[in-house]
Amino acid sequence: MHTTKYVFVTGGVTSSLGKGIIAASLAKLLQERGFTVTIQKLDPYINIDPGTLNPYEHGECYVTDDGAETDLDLGHYERFLNIPTSQANNVTTGRIYQSVINKERKGEFLGKTVQVIPHITDEIKNRIQILGETGNYDIVITEIGGTVGDIESLPYVESVRQMLWEKGEENAIVIHLTLVPYLAAAGELKTKPTQHSVKMLMQSGVSPDILVCRTEHEISDDIKRKLALFCNVKQEDVIQSIDAETIYDVPNLMLAEGLDKVVLKKLKLTSKQEPKLLTWNNFLQKHKNPKHQVEIALIGKYIELQDSYKSITEAFIHAGSSHETKVNVRWIHSESLTPDNFEEHLKGVNGILVAPGFGDRGIDGKIKAVQYARENNIPFFGICLGMQMAVIEFAKNVLGLVDAFSTEMKSDCRNPVINLMQSQEDVTEKGGTMRLGAWDCKLVKNSLAYEAYQTENISERHRHRYEFNNEYLQQIELKGMIATGTNPKTGLVEVVEIPKHPWFVGVQYHPEYKSTVLKPHPLFVAFIKAALKQSKD
Ligand code: GLN
Repeated sequence: MHTTKYVFVTGGVTSSLGKGIIAASLAKLLQERGFTVTIQKLDPYINIDPGTLNPYEHGECYVTDDGAETDLDLGHYERFLNIPTSQANNVTTGRIYQSVINKERKGEFLGKTVQVIPHITDEIKNRIQILGETGNYDIVITEIGGTVGDIESLPYVESVRQMLWEKGEENAIVIHLTLVPYLAAAGELKTKPTQHSVKMLMQSGVSPDILVCRTEHEISDDIKRKLALFCNVKQEDVIQSIDAETIYDVPNLMLAEGLDKVVLKKLKLTSKQEPKLLTWNNFLQKHKNPKHQVEIALIGKYIELQDSYKSITEAFIHAGSSHETKVNVRWIHSESLTPDNFEEHLKGVNGILVAPGFGDRGIDGKIKAVQYARENNIPFFGICLGMQMAVIEFAKNVLGLVDAFSTEMKSDCRNPVINLMQSQEDVTEKGGTMRLGAWDCKLVKNSLAYEAYQTENISERHRHRYEFNNEYLQQIELKGMIATGTNPKTGLVEVVEIPKHPWFVGVQYHPEYKSTVLKPHPLFVAFIKAALKQSKD
């Protein structure tokens, strides 16, 4: 019988140590060794999913093929592993409680008092095992969000404790990620915070099997020995994770430290092959030694927190590497673009990307940026709201429909070139109610999109409520903006282009979610190519 093994990743000392990247790097190495691996993120907050969160809270909301709105770490998992994730890969406390409460209302607990232990912890354990039970994975890596010691993490740590006991030591292990800070005044790396966070974990009945220690300086063997002694692990189980130049270095760093080896040893697994990371290192080599440079303006309203556009900036890195090109991003706040200054802000860029977004803040700046790209033949890429702004700009300035707008920003506008889908009209709840997940699209041959994808039938992920209003399609096409991609069933416009422009593409979907190291997204690759050409001309 196929037994799935479980690896839990907890975090200590502080947040933002990069548990997601460590989990993804380990998974990458195990995948290279021939194992099937997936990663799951458990988030201790009470929102059902991050779909209703402002990007300033936790950065970008990532979307899976099955329409789950998830934590941005799932983006890293997909970019590293090149396999899709799903709703089951991200679970929040809100979702756990929601399903327990739903069961309680149905009477499923047969009169029992419903409690954190065992009902909440059982639900957490079920969610962890759902992925294992598919039989698709040799190893499931589960990342516990937050930091041990947080009140809200306690039920998760207890669930891990129970699973370690139930599965047995060969089938479930814990990696604890901690910080080993360097005190400049003392000239020393300090182990005490790690000792305390391990103690905290042990108070909940969980002893880590492996310590991964984030550090700015090399951790000497002496320090490793000290950490091992005081944290009850073997010295070989203390893995250094030194600050890296790029997140894409981390699999190599973990390979050099032997993280994958100690994990396999503990899980009593023998690997079919050594990790080679051939395609990975080829990508990395080109990424680190670019022969060209381009500058892309990224226009958005959340640019103070660049994590809000994580998948877009990573897609630039993937596409840039494929052209041996460094993509420099000129971050432009849409609110700072005015009719008086937009030219000054955008001058000299080789491409303009207008980002996804919601609401009317900064909308005029986005429209100005589209106009500048269109009139000056600068490669333009509009994503979701960016595509909608491209349509509005075209309707206003080329068709002369001065009051053209989206009903999202102006519900009573006279020319709603972007409006609400009928199926959205009666929707009142905000959570999980947009057009979400993968939808098919058929491309027009000889279009820029077709040229990029090299195929007619594609499927891309969505996250929006508003759509191109087909009542305006004919007039818009007559003036030179063409719908080159449509949903074959609904007729909804998915891609618009201006054939007279060197490279002007707007997409209603989010291509950035599907760009990975192994498969840079074709539209990003084509956009960077156009920007490169622009820079040479
Ligand atoms: N606000 C727009 C809509 O809901 C665009 C959404 C987005 O850019 N993700 O249709």
